[in-house]
Amino acid sequence: MKRKIMLLIGACIFTVIALTTIQGYFIYNTYQLNEKEINTAIKKQISRLEDTEEWEKLNDTWSLRSKRYAKQYLKGDVTKQNFIKYLSANKDSLSRAMNTYMKKMAEPEDYNIDYSIYLNSITLINHGKTDTLFKGKILVLANDTVKKNQFLSSMGRWETKDNDDEVTMIVKSNRYYSFNELQQTIISKMTGLLLFSVVLMAFVVFLYYMSLKNLITQKRIADIKTDFVNNITHEFQTPLATMDIAIKTLQRKDGQMSPEHYKNTLAMIARQNERLQKLFRQVTEASVMPIASKDIIQVTGEEIKDMIDDFKLSKPDVTIEFKSQKEAFTLSMDRFHLNTILINLLDNAVKYGANKIETDLRITNENFILSVKDNGKGIPAREQASVFDKFYRVEKGNIHNSKGLGLGLFYIKQLVQTYGGTINLKSEEHKGSIFTITIPI
Ligand code: ADP
Repeated sequence: MKRKIMLLIGACIFTVIALTTIQGYFIYNTYQLNEKEINTAIKKQISRLEDTEEWEKLNDTWSLRSKRYAKQYLKGDVTKQNFIKYLSANKDSLSRAMNTYMKKMAEPEDYNIDYSIYLNSITLINHGKTDTLFKGKILVLANDTVKKNQFLSSMGRWETKDNDDEVTMIVKSNRYYSFNELQQTIISKMTGLLLFSVVLMAFVVFLYYMSLKNLITQKRIADIKTDFVNNITHEFQTPLATMDIAIKTLQRKDGQMSPEHYKNTLAMIARQNERLQKLFRQVTEASVMPIASKDIIQVTGEEIKDMIDDFKLSKPDVTIEFKSQKEAFTLSMDRFHLNTILINLLDNAVKYGANKIETDLRITNENFILSVKDNGKGIPAREQASVFDKFYRVEKGNIHNSKGLGLGLFYIKQLVQTYGGTINLKSEEHKGSIFTITIPI
């Protein structure tokens, strides 16, 4: 069963990981789709921008200037080296003009993009001879400061032929755009989807958690019940078998038994019968019947001492100390209940290995505090919270080193609670335990 639960937990973890991966994949795809959509919209925005006379004019400004420079260069008036300087001279004014133009053209649904044109090369073909005036990448104009993550919007090739002097000029340029808020725009578009995915995953994890928790609790209850059935079978077996032998002895030796033997056999039957009744009472009191009504009378300190002394008589090998802060006091409680609590605690101490028990009684203004301290085998820390549960025993499964049904502490707790009190346990494995009951007076 444990293996099954571990397998189930493994399967749940695997499913959650697989679901998260699939969701992550879909989210990534949606992100890319949105990116494509935005880029297409931006390209449309750019073609609208480039489709006006005003833009043509702006673009012509630098190409005409380049043409002019080329002519001068062919005449030998200027050098290739000075071309970049020449072209850059009116870059700023052109950029400003572009900025104003783009603002004018902007439509409400437009994306806030940066636009730039780069010159790549100018080649002159002079009477069949090729001469490269410029080759590289130089910014010609940009509506704003040029940003990183530029996307190529279009490549331009423009050719002009001067018929007078048979010179062809080939100009190559690239246009770029960048959109800085691309990521934020996509994420804000996807917020709903992202939120829904997270909530859905959290819900799935929560459902798994609740189901597994439930399963483990159910298994624990089933285990406890199986243990109880095993324990009760074991507990009833001994007295029943002993009585069986005793009865058979009586039947066999009918009439020829010594009075002594006869008396002993009957006493054995009586003892086992009493044990069976005690077991039966334990089961019915703790698990079937509600706690019987309280018969509250004044219990004196002397009576409590007597209860302990009586117990001492039955356990001559165990040292039992009794300390009481006050000699004379009375407590309003059902005597039978108090006796059950005390004897159960003392009985457990002996049953679980103690040879020395210290019983301590304190009466404060508000409470009656009784503690039973033993030097027995103690209770492991992880078990301490459970020992008051119905049918719970530290020895599990079919181990029967000590007798018991796991009902004693449960019953004590129920009893203490009917008086509005509490029971507290402090224990260290292999050292001993202290059970303290506090009942308001
Ligand atoms: P039972 O003694 O019939 O098993 P209880 O309800 O009295 O049932 O006790 C529950 C479990 O708590 C016991 O099985 C035992 O392991 C542990 N226990 C109770 N009292 C002591 C004690 N004084 N020392 C060590 N273990 C104890």
